Amino acid sequence: MSHDSNNIMVILSSPSGAGKTTITKKIQQKYQSFKISVSHTTRKPRQNEIDGVDYFFVDKSKFKKLVKEEKFYEYAKIFDNYYGTLKKSVDDLFKTNDIIFDIDWQGSQQLSKFKNLKLVKIFLIPPNKEELRKRLVNRNQNTQEEVEKRFKAFDLDVQHWDDYDYVLINENLESCYHQIEKIISIHKNDFKKSFHKA
Ligand code: 5GP
Repeated sequence: MSHDSNNIMVILSSPSGAGKTTITKKIQQKYQSFKISVSHTTRKPRQNEIDGVDYFFVDKSKFKKLVKEEKFYEYAKIFDNYYGTLKKSVDDLFKTNDIIFDIDWQGSQQLSKFKNLKLVKIFLIPPNKEELRKRLVNRNQNTQEEVEKRFKAFDLDVQHWDDYDYVLINENLESCYHQIEKIISIHKNDFKKSFHKA
């Protein structure tokens, strides 16, 4: 993959329910250059989710075929479903855009092995576990069993803080978003400087 700009790739990971999707969408609305990487998943679409926009919804055999053909930069099994990021879509997007990944710590670890990717890794956490449970219940997207699974996954998720460049507490959506804007601006400038020096 080759490119000659100051584009960056931001990974935003968090325990489910920490506000990541809202922030990801806000970034894309504010910055024309940022595009969200659309993953493949074997999960069934939720109400209002659109194939090709929120995810590419595929069955397990199609997903396995893509794995076998080594089409993914990374993939992981999360809550009984598979999720993955296609190499080709990332490489194509990155030629002209910044990219934002809404992926988990497993994906972040796998992407980090590719030294050619200009990653800025941000981990978002809710202020406390009770707030997390409240958000999971209030967003009304999951069954009670799914809420419990996501809630339990929190303890494992947070063990991976260390792998990230930044850890932010999402107590207030606006201020968290502004912190992310600052991080983006610092990194875009850094890459611009090193590019002009080279
Ligand atoms: P959801 O099913 O709620 O949309 O997503 C569940 C989890 O899967 C979230 O933490 C999300 O960040 C993660 N995820 C979504 N797409 C990918 C992907 O392509 N790779 C990995 N590793 N995780 C993903």
